[in-house]
Amino acid sequence: MFAGKSSYLIDTWEQMPRFRKETTLVFKHYRDTRYTEYAIASHDGRQLLAIPVQTWEEIRDLIYAKDPKIVMIDEVQFFEDGDGLVNFIQEITSEWNIQFILAGLDMDCTGHPFGIVPDLLSIADSVVKLTNVCDVCKEPGTRTVSINGNTGVGGAESYSGRCVAHVKS
Ligand SMILES: [Zn+2]
Repeated sequence: MFAGKSSYLIDTWEQMPRFRKETTLVFKHYRDTRYTEYAIASHDGRQLLAIPVQTWEEIRDLIYAKDPKIVMIDEVQFFEDGDGLVNFIQEITSEWNIQFILAGLDMDCTGHPFGIVPDLLSIADSVVKLTNVCDVCKEPGTRTVSINGNTGVGGAESYSGRCVAHVKS
């Protein structure tokens, strides 16, 4: 949860020239309202306006309506009906030449592949795997553990970063 995925999306947005920004749609899952309902927020306080949606079909309908060149989606692991989203992205990418920039967790807090994310990784042209900080040894980690039984959206009260060596600590 603390690997800087939202910061990465915001950085990507900030580095785009204006004409690219004007043809970009930014989405977030409505379950993620940790900081604000209508923006992606980083832990360092930066925000990027985003459309909160509940299902991938809402993303599809807005793409058809707005004809974007770039689509960014944060917390993509929360979207269900994965076959629909993965197939849609594959089709619309080639038919409309849309670039998707997706951020999400590849593993849940039990260490298992997270929902549709493995399928999205398989069809991606490039993947950036971010690391968090292990709260036990302070070395880079790739795991997140639930510390209060919560498995939904949460912050430091619910989740702790871990390296592979300390995932059971
Ligand atoms: Zn560790």
